[in-house]
Amino acid sequence: MRHYRRPGAGEFPRRLFLFGSAMTSLSACTVAGGDSRLGEDVPAVALAAAPVPEPQAAEPTSAPIPGRQDIVAEFAGRTPALWGTQLPGTVVRLPEGASGTILTFDCCGGRGGNGVDQALIDTLSRAGAPATFFLNARWIRANPGTAKALAENPLFELGNHGTRHIPLSVTGRSAYGVPGTASAAEVYDEVMANQEVLHSLTGKPARFFRPGTAFLDETAIAIVHRLGLTPVSFSINGDGGATYPPATVFREINASKSGDIIISHANHPGSGTAAGIARALPALQSSGRAPIHFVHEGPGLASLRQAPGARGL
Ligand SMILES: [Zn+2]
Repeated sequence: MRHYRRPGAGEFPRRLFLFGSAMTSLSACTVAGGDSRLGEDVPAVALAAAPVPEPQAAEPTSAPIPGRQDIVAEFAGRTPALWGTQLPGTVVRLPEGASGTILTFDCCGGRGGNGVDQALIDTLSRAGAPATFFLNARWIRANPGTAKALAENPLFELGNHGTRHIPLSVTGRSAYGVPGTASAAEVYDEVMANQEVLHSLTGKPARFFRPGTAFLDETAIAIVHRLGLTPVSFSINGDGGATYPPATVFREINASKSGDIIISHANHPGSGTAAGIARALPALQSSGRAPIHFVHEGPGLASLRQAPGARGL
């Protein structure tokens, strides 16, 4: 295992925004054809608006990333109360005043999920549209050439979409019928095994994490922060788990506002995603909502706030 250190100031957004809003319809990260139901055991509290605490003091950039045993020693025995996709400590959208939208594409891997939507990738490239691809370890293993090409394209950033592509829980909680990790140690493995793979691809640690199904509990969120990553959720479900036809993808994405984080998928060629994105990009670009990178030095993003949780939630 590579010895990780916390990202330095130049490679990690100094401040990230935390936002709690009403849960959007979610079928992302489940199998294509999934519906928009929520997890079967989602308490109402998980949908509550999240407070926005004051930014915390910056972490020392030289502090090493904890090892597995450190994580177990610190977090074992905690009993989380929350379960959801938009909990405190998770980035859901950019701050008020942000100019542009964030496009994210999950590559979930596994049976039925190892495809490559090359038409989508080509569409983004031709349009010069920045995007973040959340890659699962299984997808990378199935598509090493495409993964490398994504890593080498300066338009694209690679995020961590887990090793087994399961919800991130310390108690084995489920979402969409998918059992999650069941301990702090399993959370560590789900994040860091794929982090090693991504580091090999890009030469640097991934900054963002989105678990399979996008569900986490607050202890898992704290662990992700401790490991030097920030959980990223979404505020717009762009392709309904790659099930929407192009017209619906366009409609959902065109309903976005500046600051929205849009989730779609790049692992289902033949879905409506690529055609819908192709239609949506000109609409976004002509209306002040052009896709932007997470880290952008332009006006409006300078005040991104550090999510809480670096010292535990
Ligand atoms: Zn996924």
